[in-house]
Amino acid sequence: MARVRNFSAGPSALPEDVLKQVQSEILEYPGAGMSVLEMSHRGADFRAIFADAEASLRRIAQIPNTYRILFLQGGATLQFSAIPLNLLRCRAGYILTGNFSKKAYLEAQRYGEVDVLASGEADGFLSIPQLNQAALSEAGVDFTDLDYVHICENNTIYGTAFAELPDTGEAPLVADVSSCFLSAPFDIARYGLMYAGAQKNAGPAGVTVVIVREDLIQQGPAQAALCPTYLDYRLQAEHGSMYNTPNTFGIYLAGKVFSWIERQGGLDEMGKRNRKKAELLYTALDQSHLFTCPVEPTSRSRMNAIFTTGDPKLDAEFISAAAKRGLTGLRGHRMLGGMRASLYNAVSLEAVEELVSFIREFESLQSH
Ligand code: PLP
Repeated sequence: MARVRNFSAGPSALPEDVLKQVQSEILEYPGAGMSVLEMSHRGADFRAIFADAEASLRRIAQIPNTYRILFLQGGATLQFSAIPLNLLRCRAGYILTGNFSKKAYLEAQRYGEVDVLASGEADGFLSIPQLNQAALSEAGVDFTDLDYVHICENNTIYGTAFAELPDTGEAPLVADVSSCFLSAPFDIARYGLMYAGAQKNAGPAGVTVVIVREDLIQQGPAQAALCPTYLDYRLQAEHGSMYNTPNTFGIYLAGKVFSWIERQGGLDEMGKRNRKKAELLYTALDQSHLFTCPVEPTSRSRMNAIFTTGDPKLDAEFISAAAKRGLTGLRGHRMLGGMRASLYNAVSLEAVEELVSFIREFESLQSH
């Protein structure tokens, strides 16, 4: 069977070049006489792999030494707890834009005072809510009192994304970038902390990248008595993400993905490609008389496009007919139904062109 066009939301497509390189090294990593899977994480060979992965990520995303990069486990989900345990001293603010930001908020509530600064829930999370600074200050929210403001920058389930980062004043911005990490250039100086499960744009499931401003973790965890040692950012930084055995194979593979991005032309090139792919798909959906994208246009995600015919039976027919053509992973999240096409870095323009032709073909068959 040929490799399919994989539009899955995650774990998702990886660049074929990367998989081939991994295949060629799986038995014997060059010069090591063994597989990466068999290496000690403290040995020289793996240390070099780890250092290369971090250096490559620093180069492509221009991360200065004032930020620490951690390669952890437990997914983005464990960061929902790690963030308040480390950073929540008095109060934090959360912007609710979907399922994951809500989970992050509920988790933070267990450890301290947390304000909802804006929520898109009334709108079914189909648009990104704006911060209403005047209403917030009337309600007594002072950004200088907030330890951080948390957002989920790209909402994988609802197909929305922040077109611009919110102005959080003095409060450091903490962002879940799981589904938009490395999909376009970003300015790390705008963030106090960003975190991402790697399994969309950056590698396999099982590695979580945390990039955190050094000064935010210098004092150690805010909730020192509660914070599990593993989740203590300062300690993990001091141990170079090796307080315990890290996900060695996952970090190796993430390093290969970072190098692939670099060879393709870096984040500028990723951004250009992703803009083009998203434009192509959304234009087709907007022109369609059968399919619609329910997301408010200025809130649309370039990574996850959701759409539907409005008829669950017809949606199921579309998904199954698409799979027969080798276009897979299009079933929408179980909370929303319909379809979702994830257009991560490893999804080529050709794959999106095929999807768009299939959308048009399916529509023309319906009208006959
Ligand atoms: N945040 C976002 C934006 C996600 O898309 C996901 C998973 O898809 C998560 C958090 C949860 O990540 P994990 O499954 O790695 O814990």
